[in-house]
Amino acid sequence: MPLSLSVLAEWGSMAVMKVLILGGTRAGRELARLLVASGHDVVSSLAGRVTRPADIAGRTRVGGFGGVDGLAAYLRDEAIERVVDVTHPFAEQISANAAEACRLVGIPLLRIERPSWAQHLLASNWVWVDDHAAAARTAAAFSRVLLTVGRQSLRHYLELPHVVARMVDPPDHPVPSSWQLRLERGPFTIDDERALLRDTAITALVTKDSGDPLTEAKLCAAAELDVTVIILRRAPAPEGVPAVGTPQEAAAWVATQHPQITTSGKAKPTQG
Ligand code: NAP
Repeated sequence: MPLSLSVLAEWGSMAVMKVLILGGTRAGRELARLLVASGHDVVSSLAGRVTRPADIAGRTRVGGFGGVDGLAAYLRDEAIERVVDVTHPFAEQISANAAEACRLVGIPLLRIERPSWAQHLLASNWVWVDDHAAAARTAAAFSRVLLTVGRQSLRHYLELPHVVARMVDPPDHPVPSSWQLRLERGPFTIDDERALLRDTAITALVTKDSGDPLTEAKLCAAAELDVTVIILRRAPAPEGVPAVGTPQEAAAWVATQHPQITTSGKAKPTQG
């Protein structure tokens, strides 16, 4: 059970922790903001996939670590005390690397995991697939497809002729000239999504089970307009890594994991 935010505020002001946030998500930016506001020393790590990353509180570093060994060396060299994995649910490699590197170095790791959309009210209407190959095969039966799978996954769909592909940065490889690229960063309202689906005569939407409430509008618009949703299932999260649902809970975890020194000089017990 996470501590209340008032307890976090009281304790967070008394000790500085060096925290690595594996980010690239809105939740990662929100956690950085909360931890910096509590006085922690925060480094957010980004893969470097996006050319115009949003502003992040605290320090940032960009680029891969060089696998498990590289990440473990970074944790040691930088004397990181806590790691929070706030990467996207489909960023499976970095999450697996974080679990292994933290185990090797003996540093506590927490994961922020958004609930899956498998429990969404509309979930039983969607076509659930295990991978991009299956998504592309299913999408081939539809006349016009909206892809919101990220630019790195577009190569799986190159045989589809009539595609609108939405992403933040342009793809780093050619796509068919019949495709329409929309270089946009969300969130999008339901009115935006309804207009996009209607104006481009979309009949199927391919997306990932990100569970992000801020990207949910397209699913509701698709239901209204009878657009088929083809959705990629998540891989299981790394085993043995504790998880919370929100940046607020993760901030409370950082505060409660540390043997704190109170203003009276007495140590508080470590919790968590
Ligand atoms: P991935 O397949 O899990 O990771 C591939 C490699 O990229 C990792 O092994 C690591 O390289 C490097 N990497 C990934 N995330 C990193 C981070 N936060 N900091 C430093 N290095 C990182 O990841 P991905 O799916 O390409 O996603 C990359 C980033 O984009 C993640 O940070 C994720 O949160 C964000 N993102 C992903 C998606 C998605 O759908 N996959 C959507 C939105 C945002 P080394 O092995 O060299 O350390």
